[in-house]
Amino acid sequence: MIRIDSVTKRYPDGTVAVDRLSLDIPDRAITVFVGPSGCGKTTTLRMINRMIEPSEGTILIDGKDILKEPVNTLRRSMGYVIQNAGLFQHRTIIDNIATVPRLLGWDKARARDRARELMGRVGLDPALAKRYPYQLSGGQQQRVGVARALAADPPVLLMDEPFSAVDPIVRKGLQDELLRIQDELGKTIVFVTHDIDEAVKIGTKVAVMRTGGRLAQFAPPAELLTD
Ligand code: ADP
Ligand code: ADP
Repeated sequence: MIRIDSVTKRYPDGTVAVDRLSLDIPDRAITVFVGPSGCGKTTTLRMINRMIEPSEGTILIDGKDILKEPVNTLRRSMGYVIQNAGLFQHRTIIDNIATVPRLLGWDKARARDRARELMGRVGLDPALAKRYPYQLSGGQQQRVGVARALAADPPVLLMDEPFSAVDPIVRKGLQDELLRIQDELGKTIVFVTHDIDEAVKIGTKVAVMRTGGRLAQFAPPAELLTD
């Protein structure tokens, strides 16, 4: 479990991006942060993998303060997926996915075997292995991004608006795929979106944020109060 305990993030210019946020992110479920642009969703996600540090408060994973763990151990336990996939443009699809296993010291053949297996898992045609990112559609690139984040089999997946840049039909397919992957692999997924329909569709629990970085609601989709 990831426990966010009274976390506030104040940027150097004084902006309070997250204001006294407390909630427990359950294991092996999809927790969605939803809210308008600027309400602190990305800041929250970045604090979980220590790209930035809270100004106040603590984040604990299985009871341990993440600031007291080696940062590499923490990052290795988390895959990260962003909008527009953020793929390495000069590397083929298979090598994009194999990047993290290679960094972990796997030999090339084993890393590529793993990458091919993951292409299957996220519904990518194996014929795309040797293409470059610009030769793929937006939806296919997002699938590569998900496969790359899963490559080292981290228990946690952090996803920041991963499907926001693709058209609605492709997006629905990606959401279904993510639900299937979650079901099969039992990952702890923290998912950021500004789309309430997406949050309700994929969230096991939904954290509704409001402007100023405050938590308004935290509940399963069926129990969310509408205004
Ligand atoms: P969201 O992901 O919900 O759109 P963010 O976490 O990106 O929100 O931003 C929350 C608030 O913090 C916004 O007001 C944003 O402008 C501000 N902010 C984000 N990053 C910085 C930064 N590096 N310096 C100052 N303010 C920032
Ligand atoms: P390099 O060491 O520069 O990656 P290789 O000869 O191993 O050179 O591979 C050249 C390109 O062919 C790689 O970028 C990789 O994307 C692709 N490739 C090599 N082997 C495989 C494989 N078994 N399956 C899919 N693509 C491969």
